[in-house]
Amino acid sequence: MAENNQNKNIEEIYSLPLLPLRGLTVFPHMVLHFDVGRKVSVKALEQAMLNNQMIFLTAQKDINSESPKQGEVYKIGTIAKVKQLLRLPGDTIRVLVEGIKRAKILKFTQTEPYFTVEVKEIAQKNTRVRKVELEALMRQVIMNFENYAKLTNRIAPEIAASIETIEEPARLSDIVASNLFIKVDSKQELLSENNIKTRLTKLLEVMSKEIEILQIEREISLKVKKQIDKSQKEYYLREQLKAIQDELGEGENWNSEIEGYKERLALGGYPIEVEEKLIKELGRLKKMHSAAPEGSVIRTYIEWVLDLPWNKKTEEILSLELASNILEKDHYGLEKVKERIIEFLAVRKLKNSLKGPIICLAGPPGVGKTSIAKSVARALNRKYVRLSLGGVRDEAEIRGHRRTYVGAMPGRIINALKQAGTKNPLILLDEIDKMSSDFKGDPASAMLEVLDGEQNFSFRDHYLELPFDLSDVLFLTTANNLSTVPKPLLDRMEVIDISGYTEEEKYNIAEMYLIPKQIKEHGLLKRQLRFESAVVRDIINYYTREAGVRGLERNIAKVCRKAAKTIIAEDRKVITVSKKNLVNFLGIKRYHYDKACRIDEVGIARGLAWTPVGGDTLSIEVNLMKGEGKIELTGQLGDVMKESAKIAISYIRSRADELGIENDFYKNYDIHVHVPEGATPKDGPSAGITLATSLISALTGIPVKRCVAMTGEITLRGKVLPIGGVKEKVLAAHRAGITTIILPGENEKDISDIPETISKNLNFVIAENMECVLQTALTSMPIPILKEVSEMNNDKVAHNEKCQDNIQSDASITGITPKTTVIKQ
Ligand code: ADP
Repeated sequence: MAENNQNKNIEEIYSLPLLPLRGLTVFPHMVLHFDVGRKVSVKALEQAMLNNQMIFLTAQKDINSESPKQGEVYKIGTIAKVKQLLRLPGDTIRVLVEGIKRAKILKFTQTEPYFTVEVKEIAQKNTRVRKVELEALMRQVIMNFENYAKLTNRIAPEIAASIETIEEPARLSDIVASNLFIKVDSKQELLSENNIKTRLTKLLEVMSKEIEILQIEREISLKVKKQIDKSQKEYYLREQLKAIQDELGEGENWNSEIEGYKERLALGGYPIEVEEKLIKELGRLKKMHSAAPEGSVIRTYIEWVLDLPWNKKTEEILSLELASNILEKDHYGLEKVKERIIEFLAVRKLKNSLKGPIICLAGPPGVGKTSIAKSVARALNRKYVRLSLGGVRDEAEIRGHRRTYVGAMPGRIINALKQAGTKNPLILLDEIDKMSSDFKGDPASAMLEVLDGEQNFSFRDHYLELPFDLSDVLFLTTANNLSTVPKPLLDRMEVIDISGYTEEEKYNIAEMYLIPKQIKEHGLLKRQLRFESAVVRDIINYYTREAGVRGLERNIAKVCRKAAKTIIAEDRKVITVSKKNLVNFLGIKRYHYDKACRIDEVGIARGLAWTPVGGDTLSIEVNLMKGEGKIELTGQLGDVMKESAKIAISYIRSRADELGIENDFYKNYDIHVHVPEGATPKDGPSAGITLATSLISALTGIPVKRCVAMTGEITLRGKVLPIGGVKEKVLAAHRAGITTIILPGENEKDISDIPETISKNLNFVIAENMECVLQTALTSMPIPILKEVSEMNNDKVAHNEKCQDNIQSDASITGITPKTTVIKQ
């Protein structure tokens, strides 16, 4: 272990003038200049210049003190040599000093006009320190100082370089300490430390702390710089974009658009919830730059919300008289329908609320359902919107898509309201029976909410995300086929049936409404185009086959078009459409009604069918051939119809004796049943009795009367069960020239629905069982095969049902044979 003998322990005492320093610590070996202005300091300097230029420099504790007292300066300071003085303007002196050695104040010998102190030099303490230890500390100090110099950027590179060459530890510590940018008290601490090892260690501590702080500072400043750089870049790019948009004339639009929205919002009339939502969305839009794709999504949304009639209404007129007049003026006939609608409006007026069942106008196409709805809207002074539900299978079509979907839009209900522009329109939900459900959800359940008066005051569309009050909307619905309307929806509806028009009604509708309307729509004058009355009937019978009048209207329009062309092309004044020249307007006849047969035939019976476009007659033909009991069914019969044929055959086999038919006919004959118009699929149970009649006629050889048509389901026991669509079927039968119609017992009530003009020309026979059907339909009753009485008694299928006298009209039906009884001979 070597001793540090560099400084000998000769502690000399000096009497020196004192210069208190503010915010500055001078170390030995340090050369620096500072300005002196205070009187005490100047005087001390002057004294020093007189005394071999030596002065004692020490820091004052309070930097702000103008004239520090004895106790207010640090005791330990540095004896320095004044190297140069430079007088500056305004009593200031610039001094260049060099620190010589550490010293400590022993006592103050003078305080006025400057301090004079007796100081004792502090010699380096000769502690026993290992040389290598000192060397290691010195290297650490040098290394740290280099780091420090790099981080601060405030130390001249030559200082850092010169430090490396210092070999004396005391000198190194002082020079390094004097070059640190640290607080005065830290510097003072380093100055006061006499032990070299401790001083170097302290210096290292101070430096490490400073380096750490500097590193953190640097990181922070880098981060800040990065952020600033990024936002500066964005700002710059945005400014550029704005400039480009301005140049293209687009920038203005964007801002003016937001202003436009704000103006519309300020006009008011929006519920608070809506207003809040719009303000929020406008805020989002403002923050977004105009090219952002989301911007256009928000814009579309805002426009939708602004466009909706949140509070706009039309003044409703609830005058029954006016409504009745309008309905009467717009539509021919339909008495029952008009009456039901007026009743509905009366209840609505009394209750002053729209809660309650929804009217459903049910019937085939073209019977005026839509046009009645339009008239109701007109009568009530409500806007009219038609919403077609045909093919709607996704709940989102009713309720909209959530905004997260690309291309999301509100549902049809909200769409209809926008179209109406008022919150109290009449919305016609057309073809509610054509709505179906699939994996995307059930539109019917969304519809239920729309139609439910208890819930629809806050209908939520997924897109809008805002509740819309639908309670002022008057909903009407239409359906072609009630059996496919979802049950819960049907429960909420009050069904008004419009079943189809008779030829007479069609004729009147054509004469009074369709012809004048089409003539006007084609720019013609009434006197320019005349329809002979027989022509209208021909159009009805040979060019259309429908329950409504849409096809009729289309054909009339076609005639008008052709007439207009002829009037212009050939310069004609008047055109008359006659039976003869009708073919020139509409081409050859398209339909030929299945007219009643000219003669009574064996094996052909006439049934009645219901189709969505009205009723039709349906001949069923049966042929018997020698064979081995095969049954052939042709004419695209559905399963139910095929089963009806089997039931009919079973019934006949069980009654073979009674019907005078060979018991084993089903073994010896092949039976072929055909229902013409083979290309049209047919199904349903209502042809049951017709099938049985034609089979019996074929098997017995007794002809079926040509003027009879029938409809009804058959059971194995020969009972006749009720069917639907009576009115349409009867109208079709009438059209075909039928005079007698056999209906099941339970359908008797439906006869009252048939217009009197038709029913007065028809005989209705109400049949409870097959026996009665045969009595009416066959030209004569079959002769039973007589058996022994004992055999008869055992016969399980003997029956005793009677056919009552069910003939409804006075007209007697020719050929009815009295009820056949088994007479023993
Ligand atoms: P739907 O809605 O039942 O399919 P529309 O209401 O579209 O039928 O009617 C088709 C056309 O027939 C319309 O031009 C309508 O004015 C007319 N129409 C139907 N029924 C009548 C009627 N009873 N009186 C006058 N015009 C009618």
